[in-house]
Amino acid sequence: MRHKAFELNNNKDLTTAVAPSTVANRQRGWQMKYIASFSAGKDSTCMILKLLELKYPLDEILFYSTGIDFSCIDFNSKKMEALAKANNIRFTWIEPDKPFLWYMLEKPVKKANGEMSYGYGFCGGCHRFGTGLKREALHRQYQKYGDEPIVEYIGYAADEYDRWIKARQKRDGNRIKVFPLIELGISEAEALAFCHENGWYWRIRPEDENSMELYSPGALRRISCKYCSNKGLDEMRFVFHEMKDVWNELRELQSRIPWKFRKNASIFDLEERFKREDSLPKQETLL
Ligand code: SF4
Repeated sequence: MRHKAFELNNNKDLTTAVAPSTVANRQRGWQMKYIASFSAGKDSTCMILKLLELKYPLDEILFYSTGIDFSCIDFNSKKMEALAKANNIRFTWIEPDKPFLWYMLEKPVKKANGEMSYGYGFCGGCHRFGTGLKREALHRQYQKYGDEPIVEYIGYAADEYDRWIKARQKRDGNRIKVFPLIELGISEAEALAFCHENGWYWRIRPEDENSMELYSPGALRRISCKYCSNKGLDEMRFVFHEMKDVWNELRELQSRIPWKFRKNASIFDLEERFKREDSLPKQETLL
């Protein structure tokens, strides 16, 4: 199947397809910094592997660590750091100004009635304070580069057309955004397959080859933060059954957070539900 974005630029040669100025600018000796945004998910991993394979200019890889990532994300970020080092590329870790858990549990918040409460609670839905923390951390980092023009590689896949259109329309100072996977026509599924072919996995226990891959049917659709309340019911069911350590952390958090994890269900409510389902004859779930 052809992706809409791919049809816009049907060119598989990255050196001419993606921001034609990038290679030429370097040859002319123009001062530009080439930075890849890395989330340690499948798409940005595939993008960096492709950039290296095609010997594209790359000075730095920026990784934003939330502090509440799944262990496979921590594992793959370290693996990428080693790969960057081997290729003489700077690898920079960025973090929120204070630990994510401090924002979840401890940040003093003044309510409309003047009373104080502590912590924002779970992050997700229209209460995504974590995206603001990431934006601020990236902003602080980009400010360090001063006025130097930056080519920023972003790992959107070719079937993320709407996301791409939105990102293209946004101006970010002196940053030129480049979308290598889109220019190469690589979809999310192809990016994952490419990562697997090259030995990159997102396993529940990263160092155990027999451990389940999180990007597999029936597991997680996206490997977001561990405690993200945007996860669907089927994903939470998966976490309950397959990732007991994460589930126990969620229970601990829920016992300290006065608001429910989902609009109508706390972690304890979900647990109750999944246990009831387990007692039903196979294949039945409570809809
Ligand atoms: S992935 Fe979820 S928890 Fe993480 S910042 Fe985004 S909305 Fe918040």
